[in-house]
Amino acid sequence: MQITIRMDDITPDMDYARFSRFKALLDKHDIKPLIGVVPDNRDEKLAIEEPHKDFWNMVKELEENGWTIAMHGLNHLYTTKDPGIFPIGGKSEFAGLSLAKQDEMIREGKRILRDNGITTDIFMAPSHSFDKNTIRVLKKNDFYILTDGFGSGPFRSKGMIYYPISVKRSSSLKDDRKGLVTFVYHANTMEDKDFDKLEKLLETGKVVSYSAFRQLDIKDRTIFGDIWQYTVAKAKYTAVQIKKII
Ligand SMILES: [Zn+2]
Repeated sequence: MQITIRMDDITPDMDYARFSRFKALLDKHDIKPLIGVVPDNRDEKLAIEEPHKDFWNMVKELEENGWTIAMHGLNHLYTTKDPGIFPIGGKSEFAGLSLAKQDEMIREGKRILRDNGITTDIFMAPSHSFDKNTIRVLKKNDFYILTDGFGSGPFRSKGMIYYPISVKRSSSLKDDRKGLVTFVYHANTMEDKDFDKLEKLLETGKVVSYSAFRQLDIKDRTIFGDIWQYTVAKAKYTAVQIKKII
């Protein structure tokens, strides 16, 4: 199994020291990740520094250097507790809201990106949470790819393309079959040991740039695949909750 890297929570007020440390490791191995840019961050948890004025220029430059950009929600605020159709989180910015409201939010996010010179067809849902209405408005607004779902390569379900994330990193690394999955990182909260792990991962030679997904055939997912994914996601969420309790 080959691995791609996804960095969440890229905002003008993120932790730039940690971001740069992450980027330096990627650069050393010539790996270009997917970054989830929040169009208009209102989440105080993500606000580590004063907003950098040259943020959008930096994003544009990264894109020109081969990095892939995804729209990561709109404000990154969790307004509902709806886990949606891929239930690995217990909260959402979108799932549970009306179609009209979600449409308004996706359009606004897209407009902010466009005003800053960024166009993308990839959506990264905060807390991995989206519902059927989210899918409908994403397609309406020309987003066709979600960086979510479980699988071993790109798959299509109900007209949406999914570039899957790893269920369990250790298992993906041991898996010798052909395939491509994504490891998810939040640089804002990474400690020394997390950077060490990332460095070790990059040294395995299994990591490739995110754009590799675009070269692969997209498989059609059956209803059984959808049910399997829902069950695994639910189990993963439950396991995390149990770990928090004990
Ligand atoms: Zn996030």
